[in-house]
Amino acid sequence: MTANVPELIATSRLTVDVGAIVRNWQRLHAFVPRSAVAAVVKADAYGMGLEKTVVALAGAGCAHFFVATPDEGLQARKTAPGAEVFVLAGLTRANAPIYQEAGLIPVLNSLEDIVCWAERCRETGNRRPCALHVDTGMNRLGLTLDEAKTHAGDEKQRHSITPILIMSHLACADDPGDALTGGQVSRFEMVRALFPGTPASLANSAGTISGIGKGMELARPGIALYGAQAVNGTLSGMEPVAQFEARILQVRQVEKGEGVGYGAAFAAQRDSVIATIGAGYADGILRSASGSGVPLRQLSGGAEVWLAGYMVPIVGRVSMDSCALDVSNVPQAVLEKAEWVELFGHHIAVDAFAAAAGTIGYEALTGIGRRANRKYLND
Ligand SMILES: *Cc1c(COP(=O)(O)O)cnc(C)c1O
Repeated sequence: MTANVPELIATSRLTVDVGAIVRNWQRLHAFVPRSAVAAVVKADAYGMGLEKTVVALAGAGCAHFFVATPDEGLQARKTAPGAEVFVLAGLTRANAPIYQEAGLIPVLNSLEDIVCWAERCRETGNRRPCALHVDTGMNRLGLTLDEAKTHAGDEKQRHSITPILIMSHLACADDPGDALTGGQVSRFEMVRALFPGTPASLANSAGTISGIGKGMELARPGIALYGAQAVNGTLSGMEPVAQFEARILQVRQVEKGEGVGYGAAFAAQRDSVIATIGAGYADGILRSASGSGVPLRQLSGGAEVWLAGYMVPIVGRVSMDSCALDVSNVPQAVLEKAEWVELFGHHIAVDAFAAAAGTIGYEALTGIGRRANRKYLND
């Protein structure tokens, strides 16, 4: 893990309310009262910090964690030695011993994965548990329905591994009207019937909030824990977790007609006041959030940020380490005192910041750069 950058020498900062993550996790239980609720903590807990997140959730009673890679699995395992850590992908013959020694639970996504894990268990005489992932319509990872049937019907193969979870993943649950979800649910019910007695998990955040996982043993929410939208158009009662800010580096006068930033993509329509902040695309302000001068900007205006009570637009192209704000409407006295601007957090929803860059809250959260000072509240 990279060491935290001290605030004094950082030009961006991320404040994470760890207590809010725990409260969001508790809120999710209400949607699936008879299920256990796991926490998906892949990608450094969606950029919020895996270690802090796992410690807090394990302390609150969360017993199941999902990560994307074996490396993340080792981190989670070290942080919560008593919890079950499922690794969604990345098993190879060469790294299977690492899973086994660390007590990681591999999610097996193919017949090759099954053979790989079965061989490892046989060779070592150690039948470590695993999870089986069956694809029900997303076509990303997982056994096909036919492969699952063949596997379940083959006594020898079936007993070569010890699955403690059967899972599938929803492709469209963020859109409550999408017809694919119903099909995935009924296909997953067929899969469950092939593995009677094995706990099942289907719902991500959107599925959990929509009650899709109600009859299943385990829900697997990620994004809702971190206070971003899971179901389009609503926070579903979750509270924001992250605040992302950048330091104001300089304020300058720009005359009418002058350009700002690379390509002079913004031309001042009037005499303007421009503030340059110390965060750019290397820090998580996507270049597509530029006020002008990049292809996506033909679709909408650029992002707006919050400066001491004023909403101010990003103008011109976002640079690697900085970007420009038109602060002409902010009173001089306010500008003189202001040190930081908020990109998202208390005044701007992460989903709004993301939408202005043509993307989603997931990408905005996971895209926050390593140069940001990280501050944790209520951890
Ligand atoms: C990322 C992921 C989740 C969590 O999804 P959210 O939409 O963040 O709730 C659950 N299951 C799998 C397989 C995933 O890849």
